[in-house]
Amino acid sequence: MKLDRTIRYQADSDRDFGRQVMAVPGCERLKDCIQCGTCSGVCPLSIYMDHSPRQVMALTREGFKKEVLESRTIWLCASCYACSVECPRQIRITDIMYELKQRALRDRVYPKGLPTAVLAKEFAGMVHRNGRITESFLVVLLYLKTNWLEALGQWRLGLGLVRKGRFPFKLDAIRRRAELRRMLDPEPDDTSATAPPTDRRTP
Ligand code: SF4
Ligand code: SF4
Repeated sequence: MKLDRTIRYQADSDRDFGRQVMAVPGCERLKDCIQCGTCSGVCPLSIYMDHSPRQVMALTREGFKKEVLESRTIWLCASCYACSVECPRQIRITDIMYELKQRALRDRVYPKGLPTAVLAKEFAGMVHRNGRITESFLVVLLYLKTNWLEALGQWRLGLGLVRKGRFPFKLDAIRRRAELRRMLDPEPDDTSATAPPTDRRTP
């Protein structure tokens, strides 16, 4: 039988991770956290989280990247901002949660079957590809990637929506998608990404 160590040592951490997060505009004040636990106390969802908001702040600051990015906490955060309002050090905890979610998506370490994580990934991917979302496609993708059996139980509702034209099968997209992608993923030295567009024929 393999025994896993259940506590983490400082040597397991990636100090760069904490520094990188605190370098993001809006996340700088994380360094001032006094671990008072107010954020955990006011969070309406902390009882469902694997790490409380206070713990996520401490783990992030100390560079425990894996523990934070693989945590369900960041995906259970409902962005109610109660923690940010009450924090005595004015730490923007909700914004830090957003930053952690983005990093988890980028590193592909989000909990694969968790609906909120899957929804965030598919939503962002669709906006990135098409410039806007198509709710019908998003709902189908969400069910397929989380619980497709449950979708079968919703067939009556789906059929009703299709009949009323509320569930279109046509993917919605903006015309100049290439320009959008250049804005979202500019090359490091591509200063033209923010310049006015010149090629009006871009699809
Ligand atoms: S309320 Fe603010 S200072 Fe207190 S533990 Fe949470 S983030 Fe840290
Ligand atoms: S913003 Fe997120 S972490 Fe903060 S109190 Fe609300 S649900 Fe909890």
